[in-house]
Amino acid sequence: MVATDFTEISYWLGTRAYAPGPALEGDVDVDVAVVGGGFTGLTSSYFLTQADPGLRVAVLESEVVGFGASGRNAGFSMTKIGMMHSLTAMRFGKTRALEAHEYADRAVDLVHELVDKLGLDCDYEHPGFLWVATSEGYRKRLLKEIALVHRLGITGIHLIDGAELRARVDSPLYVGGAWWEPNCGLLNPAKLAWAWRDVVTAAGVQVYERTPVSQVERTGGRSVLTTPRGRVTARKVVFATNAWSHLFPQFVAKQVPVWTYIVLTEPLTPAQLDSIGWRGREGVEDFRDLVHYYRLTADNRLLIGGRDVGLGDGRGMGFDSDETVFAALRSDVRAMFPGLRDVGFSHAWGGPVSATLDLFPALGYAGGKDAVYAFGCVGHGVSTTHLHGQVVRDLVLERDSELTETFFVNRRLVPFPPGPLGLRTVQGIAGFMRWEDRRLDVLP
Ligand SMILES: Cc1cc2nc3c(=O)[nH]c(=O)nc-3n(C[C@H](O)[C@H](O)[C@H](O)COP(=O)(O)OP(=O)(O)OC[C@H]3O[C@@H](n4cnc5c(N)ncnc54)[C@H](O)[C@@H]3O)c2cc1C
Repeated sequence: MVATDFTEISYWLGTRAYAPGPALEGDVDVDVAVVGGGFTGLTSSYFLTQADPGLRVAVLESEVVGFGASGRNAGFSMTKIGMMHSLTAMRFGKTRALEAHEYADRAVDLVHELVDKLGLDCDYEHPGFLWVATSEGYRKRLLKEIALVHRLGITGIHLIDGAELRARVDSPLYVGGAWWEPNCGLLNPAKLAWAWRDVVTAAGVQVYERTPVSQVERTGGRSVLTTPRGRVTARKVVFATNAWSHLFPQFVAKQVPVWTYIVLTEPLTPAQLDSIGWRGREGVEDFRDLVHYYRLTADNRLLIGGRDVGLGDGRGMGFDSDETVFAALRSDVRAMFPGLRDVGFSHAWGGPVSATLDLFPALGYAGGKDAVYAFGCVGHGVSTTHLHGQVVRDLVLERDSELTETFFVNRRLVPFPPGPLGLRTVQGIAGFMRWEDRRLDVLP
């Protein structure tokens, strides 16, 4: 899966000059081999070397750092984890819904702290998050969800009324007020991934790009990782392969890739911006099942993604583009913001997120303690993958910590049914979400 030109994979991957590091040539021996150069792999290697500077750590990335979801996402560093709080409460109970929120809230703080402390150059801003309703049905859902988070004892989330919402961001589609949460950052994700590459390299981590791992075998108390031009022998392996994880036999039924798509406008003119307001530059999502997420970039382009998902064929990874979804997103921009009816669109791209059957993250040991995995963040991994890096550190070092006690660490994952039934299950879940949105939404 060698990309011809990684700068065309997403808008973000073209916003900074980046020289990929070396590919692995020959054999190396390390303490920890990390497969995958996204936020999970990079932050895991960072926290490992912070905990034990003598540790020899290598990151092996198929393409370039940030090639996966980490270099393509919308850049919301937010407290969302899994799906809505009510669904988390239904699946895991109310105490755990609160625990999950606190974990994600801590993850947002961690990203903010690390960006400041390490000077990670990623156009970070901290404008907060608006979750809006675009029909009466969604407004009822919003009110119920806010009531639940307050019953759970979650602080930092407020209901603002319609007038305050429209004073912030003005769309004729908005119905009623909104969920307002100041603790949300927005960033340029490719710049963040590449800043991480620089930080971990400086800390002594060996980062090999264009080095796909085709096999991981355990022999004689060591893991042997096969790559095209060399082998890595390691005491411990971290699978930070996110939506690609099912391609390793251990995780074949544990997660599936699901694609989400984004379109980007040309920079908005002052008049176009004035027609929306948006002086606070908040990150915005709507209350659909298949949400729209939108924000402004550092140069005032409107980025919007979501609306529908791509399901692929259950195994292959070549579904980064969907012209039907791109066209629908462009038309949604015009419906949401009539002042942008003439805006031009410059970019469109997609990328795979990792979905477990209950749409909640999963981390833990893959069999013995010599292998650790972390995946399943769906569309909410920018913040959480950074805290997952600390969980992975503790699992690799076999340290019991408050983090390894988190309920979704080392949980028993419900597998997808084998073969074509697995894909049908995903199609069924997506089909239900589409049906609900058709029933509740005013957009065609
Ligand atoms: C379009 C889009 C929008 C999103 N928007 C948001 C958002 O706004 N906010 C948010 O919180 N989350 C968002 N997400 C989700 C978020 O991006 C992910 O949860 C997060 O980046 C996952 O990071 P990761 O390091 O676990 O995985 P990835 O970044 O996907 O990294 C996995 C890496 O493993 C590599 N790899 C795979 N197999 C192998 C192999 N065999 N050998 C070597 N390397 C391998 C891949 O090339 C890839 O680089 C979005 C995702 C997408 C796709």
